[in-house]
Formats: sequence, structure tokens, C-alpha cells
Amino acid sequence: MTEQTKKAEATASIPELFGSMVFNDQVMKERLPKDTYKALRRTMELGKKLDPSVANVVANAMKDWAVEKGVTHFTHWFQPMTGITAEKHDSFICPDGDSAVIMEFSGKELVKGEPDASSFPSGGLRATFEARGYTAWDPSSYAFIKENTLCIPTVFCSYGGEALDKKTPLLRSMEVINKQALRILRLFGDTATTRVITTVGPEQEYFLVDAEKFRQREDLMLCGRTLFGAMAPKGQELEDHYFGTIKPRVAKFMEDLDRELWKLGIFVKTEHNEVAPAQHELAPVFTDTNLATDHNQLTMEILKRVAARHGMACLLHEKPFEGINGSGKHNNWSISTNTGVNLLEPGDSPKENAQFLLFLTAVIKAVDEYQDLLRVAVASAGNDHRLGANEAPPAIVSMFLGDELTEILKSIENGTPYSQRDAEVMKVGVHILPRFPKDTTDRNRTSPFAFTGNKFEFRMLGSDLSIAGPNIILNTIVAEELCQFADQLEGAEHFEEALQELIRKTISEHKRIIFNGNNYSEEWVAEAEKRGLMNLRTTADALPSFIAEKNLALFTKHKIFTTAELHSRYEILMEVYCKKLHIEAATMVDMVHRQILPAIARYSCDLTRTALEKRQLSSDIPCDFELGTVKELSEQASRLRSSVVELEDDLLTAEEFPGVTERAAHYRDVVLSDMAKVREAADGAEVVTAKAYWPFPDYTDLLYSVM
Ligand code: ADP
Ligand code: MG
Repeated sequence: MTEQTKKAEATASIPELFGSMVFNDQVMKERLPKDTYKALRRTMELGKKLDPSVANVVANAMKDWAVEKGVTHFTHWFQPMTGITAEKHDSFICPDGDSAVIMEFSGKELVKGEPDASSFPSGGLRATFEARGYTAWDPSSYAFIKENTLCIPTVFCSYGGEALDKKTPLLRSMEVINKQALRILRLFGDTATTRVITTVGPEQEYFLVDAEKFRQREDLMLCGRTLFGAMAPKGQELEDHYFGTIKPRVAKFMEDLDRELWKLGIFVKTEHNEVAPAQHELAPVFTDTNLATDHNQLTMEILKRVAARHGMACLLHEKPFEGINGSGKHNNWSISTNTGVNLLEPGDSPKENAQFLLFLTAVIKAVDEYQDLLRVAVASAGNDHRLGANEAPPAIVSMFLGDELTEILKSIENGTPYSQRDAEVMKVGVHILPRFPKDTTDRNRTSPFAFTGNKFEFRMLGSDLSIAGPNIILNTIVAEELCQFADQLEGAEHFEEALQELIRKTISEHKRIIFNGNNYSEEWVAEAEKRGLMNLRTTADALPSFIAEKNLALFTKHKIFTTAELHSRYEILMEVYCKKLHIEAATMVDMVHRQILPAIARYSCDLTRTALEKRQLSSDIPCDFELGTVKELSEQASRLRSSVVELEDDLLTAEEFPGVTERAAHYRDVVLSDMAKVREAADGAEVVTAKAYWPFPDYTDLLYSVM
């Protein structure tokens, strides 16, 4: 960054600062010739192909803008299957004669890149002899400057054209829902809308711990979560952290974080303390799903970077600490027209209401028919610790509509009076629905998929997850139902009647997915089973659904994934599950042998020596504490040692399974329970070992050290 840019930034007002590192619409308007700007806008809004000559002009303008801000490099910024973003930096420098350089950036460099793809997970899609992959500019997301580098959002594909990333299928799914939703809108006589987009506002939870303490924990460094640790005497039981005053060091961090995010045009708005000690949440204003996904990836990266600057570590793991809440991410999702109408908001006229009800029932049908895919969309080894653990929604997918809306649907389904409406029977297209104020619809925090007045809140996501996956699924399954609805209604003789009947029938067939009660209760698990809802408890249980026949048919019909792409993703997700658990188990083994057992030995030795010395002084000084503790620690140490040996054996066995499905089952059934035994013994030893001897910071240190 140039000194000038730095100075300008320090004194800038928030509106000046906002988006100052983004090559956004305003900058484009200022810097591009009118025709170029128009051509680019068309590409951005309608997905039209961009002329190469236009690309050259855009590239040059981008480069000039970036160089003025002190930027020297550019990178294609993409989202491979690793779950994080990737970049390969190139400088703008181009030789000019023997001893000079000029700064150059061509349309070709803007539009296409060729990173070596061989080290990114492809699930067997890309044979090793064909290691090349390419990145292609996604003009629907703005270029931005990060760390003195101009970042170009791109998709990432193999040379065969298969998607190797998360953005490609997301963009495909946005196209599909656009197409199908437009068909529905036309049926209602809407000719003004030219594009339908889905919108997302992801709420992000995270923990902050002191960086010094973090560095002393091998488990946090390697796995992002604590594999050991007895609960601190105080947890979240007093509920004194939630929305509590923000500690000065955290407040400074948040201030800095806001500025960094605002510079990148990220609309972060709300920040507060969460339920668990050291836990916080941030929420941006919603935007279109593609941009929201890019922004959330950037937010996670910047959270970590800004935390480090403030001497802290930001934990994005879904379950960093046993015994207190883990972190999630709420994916608030809706569908909007380019004319600014939220299609999940009941309107003011009977016609708008009928349209709302049709979109609503499409979502109900989608969630019911593709429960398994929604579960798959949030599946990860880390998130398995949360789902169903009385802090996050269960692994059972259901949806909350609130009593009022549920009553209305009942009235439509049964032709019975809707109680609060003068004993009227709700008729689609005739009656006006009440608006559903947020406070009456948002009460149930236990539902995995809640209607909150004008959007759905998908609450099963773990904090670490890219939101691309869940939104690919949401967009696609709702598009499929809209497609089926359009097929039926377009052929109907009498639209109004067909519509009423379609809505009635859909409610009747899929109402089992609606549940307004307490999702955390035991009764719900039994009730859900009676209703025939799925309960895919772990990632290993859930993932095989990804490639089930019906889901393969869905994805290939809408060209979201080819069969090969789908299978490759299944392989990758299963592999990641096994590898994550393997790393955790191996870290445990390492910490037990090289840190915990030696610490126990040291402490026991000192206690024994003390007892011996006491005995030498006089035989009637009691040594109960020393000898009792040595005895207890020796027992714990033996248990710890034998359980860790068992874990090591079972880890070796894991390597013998040739198939990933069987290997995943072994990790789920055997390795995870071994790990629980190891932890139990270690935590048991921790509580009787003097703090000074324990080899790493404990839960109190981690959860309460940031002031
Ligand atoms: P909470 O769920 O904590 O009560 P809010 O309901 O205020 O918080 O907002 C949650 C998130 O929902 C915010 O990020 C907000 O921008 C987002 N949101 C609001 N309207 C929409 C919409 N139409 N589409 C997608 N997200 C939305
Ligand atoms: Mg929320």
C-alpha cells in the first residue's frame, strides 16, 4: 500500500472507506468507457459472454486503479474443494527494453489462468498426467485488493471442463433457479422481471483466544479444536456472556475487523457476544448468493488475520471446546427479483399472496424430498459434534413455519376455517394473508430450517463451512420443485383452480416436514421417526445419500453436477472426513506420549520424593495426599497408556480398508470411541495434577484469558 493510500485510509469517513478496495460499480462507471461499462454490466446481470476486446479494456482499467493504490501483483482467486480459497500471485511487471519494466495486465490474463491443479483435491476427476486446470473470471463478483494484490474471483475447472471448485456449481444452481422461477412469475403475469436471484445473509460465529495460549496447544494448532481439557469451573451456565459488554481487547479487534471488511465492500453490520465464553458472532447485510459466498470466505480469512494482529487466534472450528456450545453459521436465504421483490414475503394483494404460497410450498416440498441432501450439505467431522447435541439443531431435518402460517396452510389443505379470520376458509388468490412479523415467527431457535417472516434460516451449518455447498443444494432443490410446478401449471386449463389444487395437494403430501415444537427434545426424535423423517447422525451416515439415485437424477437433470463430478465430490468429502479424524487421532497420540504422560510422571515423581523425605524426617507425618495422588495418577496413566495403544492399533487398521465408505465407518465406530476413552483418562489426570505441571494451557486459561 502506498503511503498516500494509508494516509487517505486513516482519515477516511466510513462511506469513503466502504468498498475502497473493490473494483465495484462506481469505480467501473468512473473508469471504463461507456460502451465497455455497458457490455460488462450486461455480462454481470444476464450472464452474457464478454467480448475479448472489452476484457482488455477492463483489465487495463483494473490494473491502473490497483497500481494507484500501490498494488504490484494480481491473482486469480478461487475456491477449490479444500474449503478455503486459493491464490497464485503474478506481478504486473513486464520487461520494457533491457533495463526497464512497465506494469501490464491483459484481458487474457484477466479472463483465464492456468494454475497447476495437481495438488488440489479432485476425487479422481483429473488423471495425474493431465494436471492442468484452469481458472476463469467470474465477472458477477467484483475484483478486489487484498494484501497488495489484485484478486480476481474465478471458477476453477479441469481441462475437460469438469468443476474442481465450489463456485462453478453455485453459479450453475443460480442459473437454474433463475430459469425456473421466471417460468412461475410469467404464469402470474409478471413480465417485468428479467432475473431472479437468491440472496443470503450468513451469520458467523467464532471464538477468540489468546495467541500465546493457542500456540502452546498442539491440538488447537493442528486440528483447530481441543482434543483434551477438563471443563473449567465456570462455563456458560450463568448466561452472562451472551450479548454482554464486549471486552476492551475484543472491542478493538472488532473495530479493526469492521474497517477491513468495509474496505472490501462487505456489509458487516451486527457484532455481539455469543452464548459461550470467548464466543462472538458477526452478521452482514444480505446480498446475492454468489457475492455472499465470496464475502463469507473473505470474512473467515480476515477474522483470522485481524485476530493475529491483536495477539489472538480466531477459532472457526465447529466445536473447539467440549462442554460449551460450538459455533455455527446461519444461512439466511431468500429469493428475489431484479425489480426488488422478495418472493418469500407475503404481498399486499391476493395475487401476490398466491404467488408467495406457491414459492413457499415449493420450499416445503423441496426440504421434505431432499432432507438427505440438506443433511449432506452440512456434513463434516467437526459439525458432527454439534448436530443433535442440544446446542444446535439435530441431524433430523424439519422446518418451522410458526403457528399462524401453519394454521393458514391447514385451512387451505382441509377447506376448514382459518381460526383467526372470522371463520373464513383460506382461498388461494382470493384472500390476503397477514404479514408475519419477525418476532412471532422467529421464536423457535431449535429448528434446523426456520421461516423468519420473509426468508428461511438454515441453521445446521457449522462455522467453518463454505456456504457454497448448502446454497448449491438449496437453489437446486427449490428449482426442481418450481420446475415441476411450472410443468403442471403451464399446461393447466384453468390456472386459478389448478393452482389452488396444486398448493393443497403439496401441503397435504409434505406437511410431515413441518414441526414447530422443540427440536432438541427426545420426543421429537421418536415423533420424527414415526413421520418417516431421516435421522442421519454422522457424516459417514449422511454422505452416501449424496450419490443416491434420486439425487444423481436431480443434479444431472439441471446440469449442476455430472455423474463424474458428483462421484468425485463424494470421494473427496469421505476422504476429508477420514483424514480429519486421522489427524486428530494422531495428534492425540503425540500429545499423550510426549506431553501428558511425561507431565504425569514428573508430578508423581515429585510427590513420591516428598513423601519419602517426609518419612525420613518422621514416620508420623501423614503422606496421604502424596501417596493417594500418586496412586490415582498411576491408575489414570495406565488407563491412558492402554487406551492410546488401542487407538494406535485401530489407526493402523484404518489403512487396511481399500474402500473409503468402509474406512469412514471404521473411523466413526472405532476410532472416535477410542479417542473418547483417551480423552477421558487424560482429563481425569488433569484434574488431580498441579497446574504448574500440566504441559499446556487449560480451559480456564483458554476461555478467560482475553480481557
Ligand atoms: P437474527 O437471525 O440473529 O435474529 P436478523 O434476522 O436480523 O438476525 O438477520 C439475520 C441475517 O438475515 C442478516 O444477515 C440479514 O441480512 C439476513 N437477511 C435479511 N433479509 C434477508 C433476505 N431477504 N435474504 C437473505 N438474507 C436476509
Ligand atoms: Mg439467526
